[in-house]
Amino acid sequence: MAKTPPGTFSEKLRVEEALTFDDVLLKPKESSVEPDEAATRTRVSTNVELEVPVLSAAMDTVTESDLAIAMARHGGLGVLHRNMTVEETASEVERVKRADELIIRDVVTASPDQTVQEVDETMDREGVSGAPVVDDDGTVLGIISGTDIRPYLEVSDRDEVSEAMTSEVITASEEVTPREALELMYEHKIERVPIVDDDGALTGLMTMQGILQRREYDKAARADDGSLRVGVAVGPFEDDRATAADEAGADVVFIDCAHAHNRDVVDSARSISGRVDADVVVGNIGTREAAEALVDFADGLKVGIGPGSICTTRVVSGAGMPQISAVANVADVAAEHGVPVIADGGIRYSGDAIKAIAAGADAVMLGSYFAGTDEAPGRVITMNGKKYKQYRGMGSVGAMQSGGGDRYLKEESDEEFVPEGVEAATPYKGSLASELHQLVGGMQSGMGYVGAPSIPEFKERSEFVRVSSAGRQESHPHDVVITDEAPNYKPDG
Ligand code: 5GP
Repeated sequence: MAKTPPGTFSEKLRVEEALTFDDVLLKPKESSVEPDEAATRTRVSTNVELEVPVLSAAMDTVTESDLAIAMARHGGLGVLHRNMTVEETASEVERVKRADELIIRDVVTASPDQTVQEVDETMDREGVSGAPVVDDDGTVLGIISGTDIRPYLEVSDRDEVSEAMTSEVITASEEVTPREALELMYEHKIERVPIVDDDGALTGLMTMQGILQRREYDKAARADDGSLRVGVAVGPFEDDRATAADEAGADVVFIDCAHAHNRDVVDSARSISGRVDADVVVGNIGTREAAEALVDFADGLKVGIGPGSICTTRVVSGAGMPQISAVANVADVAAEHGVPVIADGGIRYSGDAIKAIAAGADAVMLGSYFAGTDEAPGRVITMNGKKYKQYRGMGSVGAMQSGGGDRYLKEESDEEFVPEGVEAATPYKGSLASELHQLVGGMQSGMGYVGAPSIPEFKERSEFVRVSSAGRQESHPHDVVITDEAPNYKPDG
């Protein structure tokens, strides 16, 4: 056996230091920036910009279409998890893409000879309160809504739709603008306008609710066609899911792997990125070398080897990189190539999120922070009188048993998984909108302390100071008993 030259092992112990969130603070600087004026617009991938630099994690207790819709409406980006079939991924993408469409295309219609009862049941099932009545050619004959079929109107359940419908129907052409459609609705006291072609055949439907909702979400992340943006996680070798997500209209495909600096993963990611129209973000990584292996084709790099709240990678494998250093390592390389960086995992407070951006990230991804919201999958559970929602690592036994093992480059046929995550519960938090508001508001405060009016200027102007353990203690509330919960501070994160 070859002898190891003397000194080699002990030299290994002269190690570089790696830092994480609690090791640093932002140095306050002269400022003329009021926090609520700080602009949080950023780029998460080559072609996708967001008003809010925040993404929700691709985890089966965090992001499905409900949360992705809420994230995009409030300016961020939801990344759909991949513990579902490829068909389900496509339909989840389509659900987000259709959520805010101005002209609804898959309109629930009625035919004139159906019974009122049949239509009532259909509308109930589809969750709509009115339906255009069309003949076999699609020509609009009238419109029927809940108000036409209430019992007091002496319409019997067995009557034909043609007897109960309103036949003076106001329609508009494809060219109608939202403003014109609203004016028509106000003028005629109606809530929906069928859109028709030159022959009077139905092509879509505009609703008052849809138009007003668009106005309410003024920061929403939208593609050029007005649809909400959505990201999709795909496994490192899942060409079929990547293609299906792309064809369904996903804006960003995330190659989702616990260790993307793996030669096979890099090759597969490169080949997927050559085949889809969507931007392709690759992760996770935590070193300069990994960034160098990916930066020539990736539209974005995602950073995080073991910082996640439910993650046990570092204790199980002994490998990892404290997150502030990991982000800075990757950002050094990414910045030279103009590739955006996303800091993924370990963020407990808004202060952590803005520190990640100071370290070079363009946006941040969070799991536990959003898992307790109404829009996340799963139900509210009560333990010792307190409300929680389930939150589990995608490398936990439960998640891997339902198909997530390849993120950790492990075979699903393994009889006994070696997990890299735990199954847990996280406090129930109410709506995503208010959680996101607290997160972004705190990040803007950080920008105010540094005197930076925009994310790019903040990245340049911000500086860190190193914090001692006494300094860390001083940072949190101390020597008091907290009597009222703050919306943005929990003693344990
Ligand atoms: P959190 O925001 O909860 O601290 O971290 C969320 C991130 O943790 C996810 O976006 C993902 O990158 C990572 N993650 C999710 N599940 C697991 C797991 O089981 N093990 C590890 N190592 N990381 C996980």
